Amino acid sequence: MMGATARTGDDRVEVLRNLLLTKGVRQYGLDDVNQLEHALQAAWHAERAGTGDALVTAALLHDIGHMVHDLGENPAAEGIDDLHEQVGCRFLERWFGPEVTEPVRLHVAAKRYLCGAEPDYAAGLSSDSVRSLALQGGPMDAAEQRAFLALPHSEAAVLLRRCDEAAKVAGLATPDVAYFLPAVARCLRPAG
Ligand code: FE
Repeated sequence: MMGATARTGDDRVEVLRNLLLTKGVRQYGLDDVNQLEHALQAAWHAERAGTGDALVTAALLHDIGHMVHDLGENPAAEGIDDLHEQVGCRFLERWFGPEVTEPVRLHVAAKRYLCGAEPDYAAGLSSDSVRSLALQGGPMDAAEQRAFLALPHSEAAVLLRRCDEAAKVAGLATPDVAYFLPAVARCLRPAG
């Protein structure tokens, strides 16, 4: 009991650690990092932005939907939108509240929002993001942007999306998974 508590505080954290460490070796689309490196870089950007435990957790786990499906390494290259934001949100809802799961669910919508609202953001997207953007519905128009901003947690989703896009740098040094797990544990629903 004490050992488990000292380690992470919760077996659910071990499930997430194992997913990241085993499925994270999948390449992240066409980019130069794998899923684990991408997750760690996103979480690291969130932490350094001072966003708090919920967004650090959301950033670390935002693409968990890619790790729990079986559509291969890069469905977008084959014209498939894997809806990973919905898969990931449903997976995480068992254990986390909306402050974690809603930014995950909305992080693709946040990309569409940013591409509509900030032309410079669209111009800076990775080639893989451009490809998936078309599958995801393209940039939001003004009415869609207003509707998006009215959603709870949309601002957090935009922050997460900025961390996401910045998290594709080959060789960037970050802390390891264990470093972020205490923040994850603090966001878990009470066990039982
Ligand atoms: Fe991502």
